[in-house]
Amino acid sequence: MRAVRSTRPGVTVVDVDEPEGPGELIKITSASICASDLGYIEMGSTMVLGHELAGVTEDGRTVAIEAIFGCGECDLCLEGRYNLCATTGTTALGVMADGGMSEWFRAPAHSLVDLPAGLDVSSACLVEPTAVAWHTVRLAGGGPGKRVAVVGGGAIGLMAVAAARAMGAEEVALEARYPHQIELGERLGATQPTDLYDVVIEAAGSESALHRASELAAPGGAMGVLGVFPPDVQWPQMLCFMKEVRSVPALGYCKHDGGRDFDDAAQLLASTPHLVDALVTHRFPIEDAPEAFRVAADKSTGALRVVLEPNS
Ligand SMILES: [Zn+2]
Ligand SMILES: [Zn+2]
Repeated sequence: MRAVRSTRPGVTVVDVDEPEGPGELIKITSASICASDLGYIEMGSTMVLGHELAGVTEDGRTVAIEAIFGCGECDLCLEGRYNLCATTGTTALGVMADGGMSEWFRAPAHSLVDLPAGLDVSSACLVEPTAVAWHTVRLAGGGPGKRVAVVGGGAIGLMAVAAARAMGAEEVALEARYPHQIELGERLGATQPTDLYDVVIEAAGSESALHRASELAAPGGAMGVLGVFPPDVQWPQMLCFMKEVRSVPALGYCKHDGGRDFDDAAQLLASTPHLVDALVTHRFPIEDAPEAFRVAADKSTGALRVVLEPNS
């Protein structure tokens, strides 16, 4: 079968064996390109990329696939907090293990989430990054009555805006760099930040966004951080200290009382079709993966999510 392998400085479409072993076999319908994939290429990964995945099981169910499997046996996994399982760092798809940007992929049955009506499998690869945004807003406390700001107008930032709105935040503001991001944020109900906010979500993954988020946070507020930062990052410690702003790092997604971030994310996308339409800016068949990755890496293309269709 065809698969997309990381071969710095880009990717190569290679022919590999179909996956064997435990887990359910899924025919991959959609796989989207994430900034993490671009980072893995840069780091010199030689794995098959792809952790934002959706497809069809052998018995015909349409599913989105959680990319964090957990060991399934430790206390954290049994509690549903598999994102914190000790195995999580060692199984990251696309850098520590082969991902699913390929015609077929195997995943544990417990990692498959059935799609709700209204969300087509051709765009359901978006559930994975949406679950990351949902998890972050939830952990940072961006629910009913809260004023929320999001720093960063890329796909994850826009997903965080939609998540905070869906959770019942009183107001959601978006600080974005590009006019098309601001416009899309407005269509999702976001204002422009003018004040201080109870909850601020850092969704740009840059040090400057981290500092901006700490500026926008109200005294006693929280700063949800979903970017992955190197150990030598300059944390805005003094501002956070002077305002007692809690930093809330968020890793992936998990289950929670009465639910599961992945289900919440799938419901959010199913109920916000205009968000799905706006986020999927490009689609390519798998043989055009090198071009798809060029488009995804080039901000001047206006790309939010570039989707590969391995079985189109
Ligand atoms: Zn991703
Ligand atoms: Zn575990």
